Amino acid sequence: MTAEILCIGTELLLGHVVDTNSAYIGRKLAGIGINLYHKTTVGDNKSRAAAELREALKRTDLVIVTGGLGPTEDDITREVVSEVFGVPLVRSDEALSHASSLLKRWGHQEQTSLIPLAKVPEGAGLIPNPRGTACGIIMDKMGKRVICLPGVPGEMQAMMELTVIPYLAGLAGKGEVIASKALRICGPGEAEIEDRIRHLLHGKSNPTIAPLVSLGEVMLRITAKASSTGEADAMIDQTEAELRKHLGYDIYGTEDDEIQHAVVRLLEERHMRCAVAESVTGGLISHKLTEVPGCSGVLGLAVTSYSNDAKIRILGVPDDKVQKHGAVSREIALAMARGVLSLSSADVAISTTGVAGPATDDHMHGVGLVYVALAWKNGITCGRFQFFGTRSEIKERAAKRALDMLRRHLLNHH
Ligand code: ATP
Ligand code: MG
Repeated sequence: MTAEILCIGTELLLGHVVDTNSAYIGRKLAGIGINLYHKTTVGDNKSRAAAELREALKRTDLVIVTGGLGPTEDDITREVVSEVFGVPLVRSDEALSHASSLLKRWGHQEQTSLIPLAKVPEGAGLIPNPRGTACGIIMDKMGKRVICLPGVPGEMQAMMELTVIPYLAGLAGKGEVIASKALRICGPGEAEIEDRIRHLLHGKSNPTIAPLVSLGEVMLRITAKASSTGEADAMIDQTEAELRKHLGYDIYGTEDDEIQHAVVRLLEERHMRCAVAESVTGGLISHKLTEVPGCSGVLGLAVTSYSNDAKIRILGVPDDKVQKHGAVSREIALAMARGVLSLSSADVAISTTGVAGPATDDHMHGVGLVYVALAWKNGITCGRFQFFGTRSEIKERAAKRALDMLRRHLLNHH
């Protein structure tokens, strides 16, 4: 079974609102094995919206429309559907009583402005809306189905969950199920990862492995099609095992995991505490760590020592070293990590120092040069990185890389 999405809303075209509805609907349709081949966005214009709906119905038998279901002048979806199906708009007492009873429950007065909500294309069914006044509409005529939902994401999602997905799952019957799982990697770049798993990427159409690059990370999404969820999950498990054989510790997590989740998990497992001294990342590492619930048990001390003075006075970095090597240097990164380790009595400490740009520092270091040091009871190490991007991108990449260095250290020292 295939479907299309049609989003109606001028605000989406102007870029004032990002279309998150299609992403949500796309995921839900995939979960019940419905293939989505097109999505279209059109403004609040009756003739253009009708033209798009007609085009979509030429290509497929199921179109999900979001937006334009409200009671105001610019809400055109009801009229568009009635025009495309060639039926008049008729009054629905059920739609009106839904709107007025909801208003009463919210303690509002009855409003004549709601009357447009009672108009539905003749022959249409209503889709209950537990969160808003506008019911959804389903038109099912001559093998063509159009499902109209409000644009407001919370309302649309509640209606999908309650009514539309169960209904469509029934229609799709024992068709295909599409399941997917993401593996997340920080450290090696996309090209290196592709080299290492090239033999798994090529010639595979089910499951597929799709690399997706974002700031300082690569995500590999495995997608499998099968006749049941159990079968699709088993195919994913097998592909995941093969990927793990080749990528091993480079994979830090799955799905919504972020690098800091992996770090906090490992610290908890090993009953260890960490400390952080940040210069170039300006507190981003401690921000990421403190986003994870339970972080207080594993984060001993976090210092943002952006100025040389703070590095010297708080972390005990020797003044002459700063003069000699400059703040962006291996020596200073190491001294910062050592300093915060002894201040905190943590088991392991990380530090960052670098040039976020846009200007180079006094020692003519290039933008994006970052040192990350790691200190623990019996050892110390430092990595030198060259990152690219804007100031905030460089900070983000450096913070993730520092957390990844800590993660790899924890994996090796237990
Ligand atoms: P209302 O009853 O609020 O008028 P509606 O069904 O008429 O609802 P719209 O007026 O088109 O829907 O959109 C309402 C709001 O929903 C928009 O201002 C926007 O914030 C949000 N919205 C609309 N379409 C989308 C979309 N595709 N993705 C995310 N948000 C959307
Ligand atoms: Mg509206």
